[in-house]
Amino acid sequence: MRYDIVFLYDKRTRYSLNALIASIDLISGIKIQLMEDFNEILDYATSIVNKNEKCVVALSLLTTTIAQDDYYLKLKEFIRNAKKIGCITICGGPHATGDPLGCLMYFGFDYVFIGEAEESIRDFIIALRDGGDILSVKGIAYLDQDQDVVFTGRRSPIDLNTYDPFPYWRNIVNPIEITRGCPYGCFYCQVSYIHGFRYRHRNPDKIVFYAEQILRRGIKDIRFISPDGLAYGLSDISREVKIDEIEQLLYTLSQVAAKYSGRIFLGSFPSEVRPEHVSEEAVRVLKKYVSNRSLIIGAQSGSERILNVINRRHSVEDVLVAVETATRHGFIPDVDLIIGFPGETVEEMWETVNLAKKITKLGGRIHLHYYLPLPGSPFCMKPPSIVPGEVKKELARIIGAGKGYGDWLKQEELSWKIIELHRNNVIKPRRWS
Ligand code: SF4
Repeated sequence: MRYDIVFLYDKRTRYSLNALIASIDLISGIKIQLMEDFNEILDYATSIVNKNEKCVVALSLLTTTIAQDDYYLKLKEFIRNAKKIGCITICGGPHATGDPLGCLMYFGFDYVFIGEAEESIRDFIIALRDGGDILSVKGIAYLDQDQDVVFTGRRSPIDLNTYDPFPYWRNIVNPIEITRGCPYGCFYCQVSYIHGFRYRHRNPDKIVFYAEQILRRGIKDIRFISPDGLAYGLSDISREVKIDEIEQLLYTLSQVAAKYSGRIFLGSFPSEVRPEHVSEEAVRVLKKYVSNRSLIIGAQSGSERILNVINRRHSVEDVLVAVETATRHGFIPDVDLIIGFPGETVEEMWETVNLAKKITKLGGRIHLHYYLPLPGSPFCMKPPSIVPGEVKKELARIIGAGKGYGDWLKQEELSWKIIELHRNNVIKPRRWS
């Protein structure tokens, strides 16, 4: 039996979808379709089923997408219609990993992929194609006949070197994931809880290979995906970076990039850096090889107590030293700050405002966010704190003066919407404490 796997090819989740597509694209007996619209998928699925073939509809979900306007209602309707046609519906991604219950019970997906899915989706598709036992595939959750949730068990983390980051043979490329997993486990973040607490790095020869695939296609800029662009080579939490490994990688990449007049970007989106890693030596090496003018530094709060509560494991002083070091070497520090953490007092919010002012005085900019209760993170059940008008005004003044940017006001709405979706049982995140 031939299977068509139709992915909702949403630009917000494209990088992770590309890794999954790469992991199953070369399996014989299946056909992959990428579509951007619910109606397009339903029309296509109808034509497939009418030919007596099988169709799997696959989505990667972000909580912020689900909480956007009435997307969750449209998604529920779409899944209902896809199942009515006879499609198998599957989902994965950060939201599905953090909230398998909501995905199964509210949205009605047939199968939810939990955690990284390169191996799970490959085994699942092969089992489907061969008429095997899909319920024994590890890494998925489903509802049994009694409507009880069954989880088939977590998989061991994959070796990044055995999987392609994107299906370059389809002329699809994106930033190269050089590191996956994060040992820090900040309590508001999903990364460690999805990908594990151990850094896994892609080998330099593999990175260079994929860089060349990108450059050969006429794309000049090489970017990377990492929880911390300066964590390359580290095996655990450390204030010291492996600068020799980073420099060796950048040097080799620069040789390849030079052949194609390409440029390297590290320490900018999506490979921001932790502040304590922005050492004199690290910035000197970056300056030598990268083309980004800015360095994106994760600071999150100006309050030592909040940094402690959210498990950041760096100090406010680390942030100021990083900003000063980056500026001295000619980078513009773009510093991530989050307001509205659970239990954050008004005084602590003012501490963040004061840190923002110090950063801008040193020549940096702020990238402002509002706290989001993301399923899968330890804080997923904790609502945000209300940010008083005076604090907002001061932050808006900094941004209005051109010294900052960010979707924090939109995120404030999303944050409360996520809490409302908890109450309405659209999101049923697992409790971590
Ligand atoms: S915020 Fe950054 S350092 Fe903290 S867990 Fe997430 S990826 Fe790791």
